[in-house]
Amino acid sequence: MESKERGKGQRVILMASPFQGHITPLLQLAHILYTNAFSITILHTIFNSPNTSSYPHFTFLPLIASLSDYEASNLDAVRLTELINIRCVNPLKECFHLLLSQDKEDDRVACFISDAALYFTQDVCDHFGIRRFVLRTGGPSSFLVFASFPLLKQKGYFPLQESRLEEPVVDLPPLKVKDLPVFQSQEPEAFYKLVCRFVDECKRSSGVIWNTFEEFESSALAKLRQDFSIPMYPIGPFHKYLLPSSTSTSLLTPDKSCISWLDKQEPNSVVYVSFGSIVAISEAEFLEIAWGLADSNQPFLWAIRPGVIRGSEWLEPLPSGFLENLGGRGYIVKWAPQEQVLKHPSVGAFWTHNGWNSTLESVCEGVPMICMPSFGDQKINAKYVSDVWKVGVQLQNKLETGEIEKAIRKLMLGDEANEIRENIMNLKEKANLCLKEGGSSYSFLDCLVSEILSLKSSTSVCLKSH
Ligand code: UDP
Repeated sequence: MESKERGKGQRVILMASPFQGHITPLLQLAHILYTNAFSITILHTIFNSPNTSSYPHFTFLPLIASLSDYEASNLDAVRLTELINIRCVNPLKECFHLLLSQDKEDDRVACFISDAALYFTQDVCDHFGIRRFVLRTGGPSSFLVFASFPLLKQKGYFPLQESRLEEPVVDLPPLKVKDLPVFQSQEPEAFYKLVCRFVDECKRSSGVIWNTFEEFESSALAKLRQDFSIPMYPIGPFHKYLLPSSTSTSLLTPDKSCISWLDKQEPNSVVYVSFGSIVAISEAEFLEIAWGLADSNQPFLWAIRPGVIRGSEWLEPLPSGFLENLGGRGYIVKWAPQEQVLKHPSVGAFWTHNGWNSTLESVCEGVPMICMPSFGDQKINAKYVSDVWKVGVQLQNKLETGEIEKAIRKLMLGDEANEIRENIMNLKEKANLCLKEGGSSYSFLDCLVSEILSLKSSTSVCLKSH
């Protein structure tokens, strides 16, 4: 059989965690499997449900697990994830029951793939005899730190202490205490508990799928293979597979007007600024960023998501006439077509919060980064960007206009700029090669497809017992 036809007659069920940075890679993975002829069913919550019209070839099934409007708008991402892990158990069971009862000779459930954060799905899959693969939407390097949480706790690193921030974390070089993940959840222990639980349930899965590539994170992957004894499938970068141009994974509508503005700028001159879909900043930080960009004298494109400034709807804190006084040197949108922006020849630097998708997208387009991490895996990603891969600089001290100007200069004009650019162009080339026939991601995808086909779930037996 033609290799791209191998999934014919087999259905993969996938479920995303309902946040932009998780929905995007899951839909991309679904598409990659679809191009290998698998049929695709996507399970999703009503909260932040994906844009189904972009994927007429997938079946979408909502899980009716009520999250009230109050919960959806007032709870943080960790608390929401916790609720989903509790409230989706029965809806998922009902869904599996329905899907398995529809199993046909030419349309069989082959496996289930869920976001790592949805740890409840492992027990449900075991109950139905369905094999579960995990999609981890962050990178292996940060996951290794998550997997070390019990050890870090035992050694007294958590909760992080102000006086120890500059101390090295001996077990996890080159991290310092200040690089360890934090999440200011409404419930202090919630982040720690969530991480420990999803790491444990990953170990019980049939394998972990990563949006990264072997050459980029080989030592972290080697360590995970050794510690987890389940297969690891680094098959990324997902967004570099050929996806139809009509597909959008965005929950917000990208403002494409910025592309014609970019067309008018000098090559490698623009600083693109975006802090992803969840991070929020204070009004004081927002103003420092605004003046830092203004003082840097570089052109900038700034994606300011409504709600990103705590306590404001959108741009109210921006001094009046700010953009006008810059004479066209700055451009602001609510949501950017980020992949297109990073590809644009005018973009010379990406000021990012280092969410994993943004970090990987920047690497793949060879755009050096100014790192301003906030929570979760972002600080670890930023540390790797600045100190391991050496493809960016971190804003070190307090967020002040002088510091910002210095970082922008260092990245775009200073002596280090050439070295950083060379490093990231090297990685960009590797990212392109790994997807080609014989490349590492190409081969791991082939292994994943074979594994899915060889692990056909023992569902008919299980259905009888329900
Ligand atoms: N993104 C975008 N336009 C924006 C900001 C972000 O399309 O203006 C996309 C970006 O390309 C990435 C995702 O949103 O794929 C953000 O994911 P990431 O992991 O970087 O951060 P998170 O939002 O999860 O914190």
